[in-house]
Amino acid sequence: MDADTAALADFATRHPRLFVLTGAGCSTDSGIPDYRDVNGEWKRPSPVTFQAFTGEDATRRRYWARSLVGWPTMAQARPGAAHRALARLESEGRIGLLLTQNVDGLHEAAGSTRAIDLHGRIDTVRCMGCETRTPRAALQQELRRRNPSWAALEARAAPDGDADLDNIDFSTFDVPDCPRCGGMLKPDVVFFGESVPRDRVAAAFAALADADAVLVAGSSLMVYSGFRFVQAAVAAGKPVAAVNLGRTRADDLLTLKVARPVGEALEALASGLAPLPGVGR
Ligand SMILES: [Zn+2]
Repeated sequence: MDADTAALADFATRHPRLFVLTGAGCSTDSGIPDYRDVNGEWKRPSPVTFQAFTGEDATRRRYWARSLVGWPTMAQARPGAAHRALARLESEGRIGLLLTQNVDGLHEAAGSTRAIDLHGRIDTVRCMGCETRTPRAALQQELRRRNPSWAALEARAAPDGDADLDNIDFSTFDVPDCPRCGGMLKPDVVFFGESVPRDRVAAAFAALADADAVLVAGSSLMVYSGFRFVQAAVAAGKPVAAVNLGRTRADDLLTLKVARPVGEALEALASGLAPLPGVGR
């Protein structure tokens, strides 16, 4: 066992109930790009804000046009090594809660059941009028039906089911409204500039209070909605370990930092841990 894996295994053994916080680094192996470089800086123009999406027709057209092109990449993504390793650690009783900042649903697809999607799910569409939730896959059919020439476009995949589609006139793109109430449709994710639902935050903080320690996996923690859980853990005297290739916002708060690809590091951890007493493999 190498030194990084031994240190992680020691951390997980001494803190048997982990609160795991995951980010985009867990899903890059699955073909979903992340937003930030190793220094935690934006790799691309920052994502659409809630205010722009809800306030500007043009922004909404542009969002859904890019989403039409980017959705197939998201729909086809399958769990990677990090998702599988975390599902295994959960099945061994080591994880109290997995809180993910990702919206791709890949932790659940890998078998994690004690998971909260802090920022929602991109595979679900929510009507802002009547709160009806529908599968994103169904909206894809409607987007294609209304915009057949756009469906044939191809572009580089971007984070969160987006695609790099620019320098195009989006004004003809036809965005459907809710078929029930005529309300505005929005992906069921928390946009930048939007608050995370309170009950979701409360459930995550309750799990943090029950946890022995925090393991951050594949996140730079640059977004405050995730970072605040690390701040709260440190304030409560709980140690925090992080597996992330680049800098994190919490580097000076960490008990342990492993700067390796998260899938590889977690796979080694899951394979290297001795079984907990009374839990079968
Ligand atoms: Zn509606």
